[in-house]
Amino acid sequence: MTAILIVEDEARIAAFVAAGLQAAGYTTHIESRGAGVSDVISAGGFDLLILDVGLPDLDGFDVLAQVRSAGHLIPVIMLTARTAVRDRVAGLEGGADDYLTKPFSFEELLARVRARLRAAGSDTAMVLHQGELQLDLRTRRATLAEVEVELSAREFALTEFFLRHPDQVLSREQLLSAVWGYDFDPGSNVVDVYVRYLRRKLGADVIQTVRGMGYRLASR
Ligand code: CA
Repeated sequence: MTAILIVEDEARIAAFVAAGLQAAGYTTHIESRGAGVSDVISAGGFDLLILDVGLPDLDGFDVLAQVRSAGHLIPVIMLTARTAVRDRVAGLEGGADDYLTKPFSFEELLARVRARLRAAGSDTAMVLHQGELQLDLRTRRATLAEVEVELSAREFALTEFFLRHPDQVLSREQLLSAVWGYDFDPGSNVVDVYVRYLRRKLGADVIQTVRGMGYRLASR
C-alpha cells in the first residue's frame, strides 16, 4: 500500500488531508513538528511527503534541506499559506517536487499526489469499477459499458469518491469536504447539482438518494 507522510502542525488541516488520502486508498501518518522528519523517512516505508512550510519548530524549507541532504529522493509536495513567488522558487530549488498554496481543495492536492506518485512509479491505485461503470485513475477516463463518458475534473472526483465507498451512505458534508475542500460553504447545494450531472451522464439510477442522510452508489 502506498504510504504518505503528512507534516502539518494545524490539526484541522492535517486531519482533513489524512482523511481524504485514506478515502483515496492511501495509508497516512501525521507529524506535527519538523524536527525528526528526516529520521522518520530514514526508518522507511513512505512513498511521498506532504510538508507544510509554517511549522512551530523548523521552517518547512529547513526540513526539506535536511531530508535532501540525508539523501532521500522521496517526492515532496510543500504546503504554504504564503503566496509569494519567492517561496515557490525557494521550494522548488530546495528540492521540492511540487507546491500548493493554502487554501486548496482536496481534489487539487490529490491530483498532485497522484502525479508525483505516478512519476515515481509508486501509485498502486489504478482502476475502480462498480457494475458497468469504470474509472481509470491513470488515464482519467470514465467508461460505462465500455463506452467513454466525458466527466469534468469535479465530476470525476465525485464519482471516484462514490466508487471508493461502495454501499456506504455519504452525507453532503462528507462529499463536500472530500471533493470541494474544507473551505467550501457547508450550506451549498453544489453536491446535489453535481449528483444531477452524474445521473444525467451515468444513468438516473447510478446514485441513490437516501432521504435525510445523503447519497449512495447503487450496487448493480
Ligand atoms: Ca502550519
